[in-house]
Amino acid sequence: MKLLQEAIEQRGTIINDDILKVDSFLNHQIDCRLMKAIGQEFAAHFQDQNVTKIVTIESSGIAPAVFAGDCMDVPVIFMKKSEPSTMLDPVYTEAFSFTKNRKYTLCMERQFLSKNDRVLFIDDFLANGQAFLSAEDLIQQCGAHVVGVGIVIEKSFQKGRALIEEKGYDVYSLARIQAMKDNKILWK
Ligand code: 5GP
Repeated sequence: MKLLQEAIEQRGTIINDDILKVDSFLNHQIDCRLMKAIGQEFAAHFQDQNVTKIVTIESSGIAPAVFAGDCMDVPVIFMKKSEPSTMLDPVYTEAFSFTKNRKYTLCMERQFLSKNDRVLFIDDFLANGQAFLSAEDLIQQCGAHVVGVGIVIEKSFQKGRALIEEKGYDVYSLARIQAMKDNKILWK
């Protein structure tokens, strides 16, 4: 997606060979015009999948997921990284944070997904696929089915795509980074 690639090149910061910072339009400040275009792109790609719910993980997946949810006219659920005392019937799983390099517990309220739900998972980044695996676990604990994976920025030099594709899912990434070297991005 050209608009997104331009935003990454012009407004992103390469922290090191593995980590990209996009706080100015996605991870801290949100560029709503860009998010709207991102939402439309996901909606167009997954339009034949009869998606009933979109699932993401707080907090950085929420913006692209909500704009996609608006376009597809389906609810958006964000999985939580800590359990609020108000949860009635939570499901839990263990997750691993790529950026924080530590484990955490991910949870959601069981009632928001059921066996009739066809779920599109959306996230800001795909690195090694651990966030997806944890989300898939919770979605399956609720009896629902994953029908697609939408990623805003994929780092194709890490193993996430292969891991998710091996499970048979359609992974649609809007920007695919082959490498980050010498402060430059090489696109796939
Ligand atoms: P994975 O679980 O696929 O290894 O990593 C994906 C998650 O880690 C995403 O939800 C994202 O929040 C975070 N992440 C992975 N790589 C990057 C990166 O280069 N920059 C930022 N800002 N977050 C990342």
